[in-house]
Amino acid sequence: MTTDCLFCKIVAGEIPSEQVYSDEHVVVFKDINPKAAVHLLIVPREHIISLNDLEERHDGLMAYMMRLLPKLAKEQGLDKGFRTVINTGPGGGQLVFHLHIHLLGGEGLSGVGFSRAV
Ligand code: 5GP
Ligand code: ZN
Repeated sequence: MTTDCLFCKIVAGEIPSEQVYSDEHVVVFKDINPKAAVHLLIVPREHIISLNDLEERHDGLMAYMMRLLPKLAKEQGLDKGFRTVINTGPGGGQLVFHLHIHLLGGEGLSGVGFSRAV
């Protein structure tokens, strides 16, 4: 836990969130400013700043999160598919410096650089 980190505080339950899933590795909650009908944030319990800060010991965690994504999407009813985004560093649009995966889908999903969602 890093005291100044918003997502560490959410993971610790110090700041409320609309949580949809949690286990010993991750907490998953709804984005406060959703960009589509479904917009979840998959947040590891460990404070890792970004993809730039991953170490070999995180390989299992990263694979675990990848395999969790389709399960979460299915639970959210995203049977036509979904989008994942990881912003890395200020140049990548990262605003919260605790690694997280955006899971987006459903109504309203569109954006620059992406083909139109079905
Ligand atoms: P980033 O740009 O760092 O990849 O994304 C950070 C995301 O966190 C943004 O989509 C933003 O809407 C979301 N966010 C920021 N503060 C809060 C908060 O207090 N609660 C929740 N649930 N989401 C937040
Ligand atoms: Zn953190």
